[in-house]
Order: sequence, then C-alpha cells, then structure tokens
Amino acid sequence: TEALLRVEGLSTRFFTEQGQVNAVSDLDLRIDRGDVYGIVGESGSGKSVTARSIMDLIESPGEITSGEIWYRNGELAAAVEDDHGHAVDGSFVDLLEIPERVRRSLRGTSFSMIFQDPESSFNPSLTVGEQLAEAVEVQRRASANPRSTRARTRSEEYSLGSFVLSTMLPSKRYVSEESRERAISLLELVGIPDPVERADEYPHEYSGGMLQRAMIAQALAGEPDLLIADEPTTALDVTIQAQILDLLDELKRETGMTILLITHNLGVIARMCDRVGVMYAGEIVERGTLADVFDDHVHPYTHGLLGSIPDVERAGGRLEPIPGNVPSLLDREMGDRCRFADRCPKAMEDCLSHPPEVDAEGSDHHAVRCVLAERSYDESRALPDDYFGEPD
Ligand code: SF4
Ligand code: MG
Repeated sequence: TEALLRVEGLSTRFFTEQGQVNAVSDLDLRIDRGDVYGIVGESGSGKSVTARSIMDLIESPGEITSGEIWYRNGELAAAVEDDHGHAVDGSFVDLLEIPERVRRSLRGTSFSMIFQDPESSFNPSLTVGEQLAEAVEVQRRASANPRSTRARTRSEEYSLGSFVLSTMLPSKRYVSEESRERAISLLELVGIPDPVERADEYPHEYSGGMLQRAMIAQALAGEPDLLIADEPTTALDVTIQAQILDLLDELKRETGMTILLITHNLGVIARMCDRVGVMYAGEIVERGTLADVFDDHVHPYTHGLLGSIPDVERAGGRLEPIPGNVPSLLDREMGDRCRFADRCPKAMEDCLSHPPEVDAEGSDHHAVRCVLAERSYDESRALPDDYFGEPD
C-alpha cells in the first residue's frame, strides 16, 4: 500500500486571552490510499482540530505552528516544483509550504470534508441539484487550473456565514446541462431515490438522513482523493447511522476512496477502519492497525477505553468515562509530564517529570506514547496502585 498523506509533527495552537492552548501537539499519522483511517477520542481531544488542520480550515486565533503535511499528488508536485522545490519530495508536496492560494484550490478536489450537521452545508434558498451542480463546476475549474484561486460555491458562502449576500444573489439555475446531469448522478451514487425529482427540491424538503447523503454527494463532486468525515453520524438516529456507514463503506469499495473518519464511537471504528489513531489531550497516544489497537494495545488510555467495554458492538460503542479529569491544554498549566498521568493507573515517577515520547520510528508502525512501551520499562518503578486514590 502507498501513503496518500503523511502528517509529521503537526502542532496546532490557539492563542487566547487565557494564553496558548496546545490543541494538537506533535502529531504523526500516515493514511494509505484506499484505507479508512479512524481517529477516536473524547470530545476536546483534538480530533476535529486535526481534521481542520489537514483541510486548511484553522482560523485565527488558531494557527498551525509546526509540522509537515505531505500529500502525494504527482501533478501538483510538478506544478509547484519550479517555484517551491523545497516543498516537493518526489510526488509528495508539503501542504504547509505552498502558497495559500494553491492550497485552497485543493479543497473539494483533493480533500473534502463532511460534518455532523448537514443543514449548515446547504444554502436554503437554492435547490440541492443547483448546489451540487455548482460544486461540480467550481471543482472542475479548480482542477483544470491548480494555480488559480478557486471560487467559493454558494453553499460554501452559506456555511461560512456570508449567507445574507448569497441568498440575495439571483439564482443562476444550472451552469450547464452537463453539470446538472452530474448532480443527478451524484444523488444516485449516494442512494437518493428518484434523483431527477429530488434534484429540484430544496434542502428543507430532505429528511436528516437524505440531507446527510446529499452532503456526501456534494463532498464527492470534485472526486476528492481524501474524504474527511467528522462525526458524520453522531446527530442521526441509529438506523440512519447504520445506513450512512453502509454508504461510506460502499463508496470506499466502489470508488477506492480514502477516508479519514473522526468519531468518539468505538463501534464505528471497529466496523469501518483499517488503521486507528487514539487521541488524548491533543496527542495521538497510540496508533496502528485495527488489530494493533483493539487486540494488542499498550497505552493505559486505550486500555481504559476498550477494557471498560466488554462488547464494543453491544455497548453501542460508547466511550466509558475514565475516572479523573482531562488535563488543561493551556501551555502554562501543562508542565513536563505525561498528559494522562493524573488518570493513569500505571503512572510512575518518571511520568510526572518527562512527557513520554512515541516509541516507534516511522508513521506506519504500531506506536505508543507511554513509558510502558519503552524496552527499559521496569515494573518495580510503578507507583503503588492506590497512588491516585481509589477510582470512584
Ligand atoms: Fe501512564 Fe506513565 Fe504511560 Fe503516561 S507515560 S500513560 S502516566 S504509564
Ligand atoms: Mg469534534
């Protein structure tokens, strides 16, 4: 398998009145073409910030402060090589080293994102078909000329909050018959019945599950290499959730699409993913294949997540709360310690004086950020079982 995306040492901070918040720190991951890569963690663990960093959707007061995001795209590499040779490594391009304008042109054509809340991805004053056709058109023009600035669709204007303007614009109807047909075939692809009729309906005429499908269709309009799905089923009821997961699975099999799936639901991970990264307090604490993480996990946090659930599927995949509090991510409050130390049943003195490093070289191996994974680990240095008091 070949890597489509390699994220190395990514850190994203937010600069707030209270100080610097280390939302994502020193994050490595590698997503292979055709795989579903899952990021699992509790809310606030940095999952969405990771996705938004890859999508270039971090806005002030947030900032990517370090790292590399290597994306395999031979055409892009050739297009930027002359001006930005240092950002090119074979057919990989470091997205953080190319001009913003070029990076923005990748949105929709190389990377697309779907969110929890489909309503926010559609402009209520235009039909679903018109919006899909516009997405097709805009993405087509952007792929034809990767150096130009990509225009925003009116659905995007709406999501970005400039909807007053976009709803006042006269409807363009369909840009071309060809894009209308493509819109209809996208609706068909995502399993919307009677796509010809449904294309002429407005978003409010769609049910939640149908709108979720339409949002996936919109994300697929530019035939992206990577679909990022941020809690795509969390807002839906269980039956619809299962249908949307079936759809993603089917799209993966039929189109060979690569998916980055972000969820707090272990059942979703178990069912969908080839590889998994477990996030805690802004860091990936363990990553590897599904089997590495589910069956051979080493990190006490992973163990806590999985161990508290005897049967992931039956428990609905919900994360059991682990006793104790998530640490503050304010830089001045963090100190040089393991971020999980206050909740970790295996903590030892070393854990309180050094942040543990990831034990593996390379981003594709089973890797653990914990002293227990180090070969020199010595059980006798463990703190007594009741060090942090009895769990409540
Ligand atoms: Fe627990 Fe120490 Fe490992 Fe942190 S480094 S998870 S405190 S054993
Ligand atoms: Mg989130």
